[in-house]
Amino acid sequence: MLYSGQAVSANPSPLVPLDANNPSSGSLRLFFGLETAALSEQMVRAGEPPWRGHQVAEAIYRQHVTDLDGITTLPKPLRQRLTNEGWQVGRPRISQVFTSVDGTERYLVQGQGIDALTVETVWMPEGDDGEQGDDGLDAVAAPPNEQGKGWHRATVCVSSQVGCAVNCQFCLTAKLGLQRNLSAGEIAGQVVAVFDRQAVEVGRDRVNLVFMGMGEPFLNYDNFMSAVRLLVEEVGLSPQRMTVSTSGIVPGIERFAEEPPETRPKLAISLNAPNDEIRSEIMPINRKWPIEAVVDAVRGIRLRSRERVTFEYVLLGGVTDQPHHAAEVARLVRRTGLPAKVNLIAWNPGPGIPYTMPRSEAVEAFRRALANEGIPTYLRRPRGRDIFAACGQLKRTVEG
Ligand code: SF4
Repeated sequence: MLYSGQAVSANPSPLVPLDANNPSSGSLRLFFGLETAALSEQMVRAGEPPWRGHQVAEAIYRQHVTDLDGITTLPKPLRQRLTNEGWQVGRPRISQVFTSVDGTERYLVQGQGIDALTVETVWMPEGDDGEQGDDGLDAVAAPPNEQGKGWHRATVCVSSQVGCAVNCQFCLTAKLGLQRNLSAGEIAGQVVAVFDRQAVEVGRDRVNLVFMGMGEPFLNYDNFMSAVRLLVEEVGLSPQRMTVSTSGIVPGIERFAEEPPETRPKLAISLNAPNDEIRSEIMPINRKWPIEAVVDAVRGIRLRSRERVTFEYVLLGGVTDQPHHAAEVARLVRRTGLPAKVNLIAWNPGPGIPYTMPRSEAVEAFRRALANEGIPTYLRRPRGRDIFAACGQLKRTVEG
């Protein structure tokens, strides 16, 4: 077991600065990822009226049209001309699907870059209960889906980078290192591609987004927030149904605090340890930004009424799941003074990761201990473990 004296990583992956690199989309001319205003600008450049941009936005973001010739509101000669000029819709596409016995689907999604790298996106029908306690948005009992889709609500877990530089010791994605940032279109495109596959009706279906897939969203801040704006303003989703999780990138949290509430998702802090000593062992990022610095930055966010900050806590057997850890977490959360809840996640095993799953009695005792201290605490159900779709397991594993 890694914790218990053994050194973690003497050389944690070097962190990339915020917005270090953009995808290698080369000279591709892609509509998907541009806001209406930018699409209109392109149309004007092509000698067309600006409202043509609205037609393109309507087709690609609302009607899920994936090829330029399918945008039938544009005259055929214009479609032809745009194609000749090298324009394409360029929405990321699902290239492989792995289906779990529990209905979860894990997708390899091909991005917009010329490098053909894929990322992972996960569809969880009925969610994983992580949204419990969020403003009453999703009570446990949801009404039946009127369209007979076989699910009542769902959660989509979205990636923000190919791989990750943060090097959390319990996470399979960390093994990839950082390969590159995703563009805004690649982040938002995962959602639209999954909505398309699952016939999600925006405005009717109860679907939550969690930016908790591969990568650290706050190390790709500009593209991540552009994707959120696309999803809110172009696709029509509510930011209150979105949660972004950070490992604690303080400059990112400080920028996030400045975002307008109309386009700001809810925030989750990936805490995972009761104190700095253990956290630095399992999350080397803590050596740069310790818990108090992270909490201080979070205090700068003006929360909406009834909004809570979520503390995500992965329980590692024998490492972070002991009763005295629960007492410490309770004190820590209370000390923040923030309206908060705790989501517990029993660690999901992955090849080459030297931890053990917590015993189910330890998980329940941990949950009870926090709840007894008056802290709203929920247990996230593991989804899709058999297909490597669960938390911390996303590594583009292709053995389904
Ligand atoms: S848990 Fe998240 S931040 Fe940490 S290495 Fe994995 S993907 Fe990166």
